Amino acid sequence: MQPSSRHFKINAEAALREPNLQAALKQLETGFVAGRRRCYEALPEFEALRDKAKEILDHTLENLDSYLLEYEARVIEHGGQVHWAGNPDEAREIVLQICRDAEAKTVIRGKSMIGEEIGINDALEAGGFEVTESDLGEYILQLAKEGPSHIVAPAIHKTKDEISDLFFEHHRALGFDQRQTERSALVAEARQVLREKFLGADVGMTGANFLIAETGSNVIVTNEGNGDLSSTLPRVQIVTAAIDKVVPTLEDASLLLRLLGRSATGQEITAYTTFTSGPRREGDADGPEQYHVVIIDNHRSEMLGSELRPMLRCIRCGACMNHCPVYGRIGGHAYGWVYPGPMGSVLTPLMIGLDEAGHLPNACTLNGRCETVCPVKIPLPRLLRSLRSRQHLQRQNSAFARFALALWAWVALRPRLYQLLTRPTMSLLALLGARSGGFRRMPLASGWTRVRDLPAPQGSTFQALWRKRGGQ
Ligand code: SF4
Repeated sequence: MQPSSRHFKINAEAALREPNLQAALKQLETGFVAGRRRCYEALPEFEALRDKAKEILDHTLENLDSYLLEYEARVIEHGGQVHWAGNPDEAREIVLQICRDAEAKTVIRGKSMIGEEIGINDALEAGGFEVTESDLGEYILQLAKEGPSHIVAPAIHKTKDEISDLFFEHHRALGFDQRQTERSALVAEARQVLREKFLGADVGMTGANFLIAETGSNVIVTNEGNGDLSSTLPRVQIVTAAIDKVVPTLEDASLLLRLLGRSATGQEITAYTTFTSGPRREGDADGPEQYHVVIIDNHRSEMLGSELRPMLRCIRCGACMNHCPVYGRIGGHAYGWVYPGPMGSVLTPLMIGLDEAGHLPNACTLNGRCETVCPVKIPLPRLLRSLRSRQHLQRQNSAFARFALALWAWVALRPRLYQLLTRPTMSLLALLGARSGGFRRMPLASGWTRVRDLPAPQGSTFQALWRKRGGQ
């Protein structure tokens, strides 16, 4: 069965039993999490930058229409073309038409999550074009016929041996008859294969980390330089970007870039930061003959007009998933769609529907780590609670859950009754569980006790503590 958001619980259980995945996920803590912490401690103005970034993005979202039009005007001035797509179908058709008009046969892609969101690879292949992913992680996944499991490190779940097997299987036909097992040799082999693809590509496609309204530039960051090659070598360049990628000025983009690398991979700045602003001009040494930007909405306008607007501040750094205890145990594929982790649990239901992805907003302990590390201060736990509330109001949760919540709300609104019921229950549970510290079985809590003990209550109740501290 292909992972799907609808089957989140089944996907998650399978992921927990996958030893290679569990080993790979342990690296998050020592790699990305430790790297971000080092950067945070080394930059005294980190918190001030987060505040400023939030301010810039809130201002941009407030004036999104005018900044998008300003960006479009600049691109046209530079000789490029801007296309507007309301949904993935329109975006795919625009890209396919550009490729057909250019009489292209081959397309090279730089990594972009929006490309995954609109399913561009399948559409291009169905249209008869040969597509190659140029980001090493994405290239590995293309060979494995899998989607990314992390938005920054898409193949984080793959071991070196699995990659060695994949390369041996797919590269033999290209003349590489030695199985490589060392990291550097595998990278060198991929580089040789991809270099030919870059040189032979008719169309280069990239995403955008930011679109700058002031200059009409597209900014992409990579650690491999594949974005530069995808943008400059082919004769046609296509940028696909969502409407929330626009920022007003070059200075704003620079500030966001300072946060992006540090939050994503623990780097002060990513190895390559590339600005493109149109097709090749007279006297330019390189660059494409045609420059197209496809700007995609895909439900973002609805988010803009709702309480979920802060989600549009996301700069796709991945810090929320690196610090999420749920993502850290099950990885990205269990989420069953393009965006995993806390940001995905908000975005996916909005893009494919709460009925398809209803488990995701509930796959969260609301511990708040994601909000604490998010460089643009997105209140992810609040947004997840808001989706749970939508689910409840649209009667998409179970009848039992609705009944239990209604009963709890009724009692909670009557503090004396609440106290009368909870105090003896908690005291009894504390007494029964005192010796073992927890319960192996508990009526109505089998979802929990099936895989772990339920801890016995300890200490005072919240109400008793509240009164002790002088609360009213
Ligand atoms: S929600 Fe915040 S932490 Fe998560 S990817 Fe987006 S910007 Fe990064």
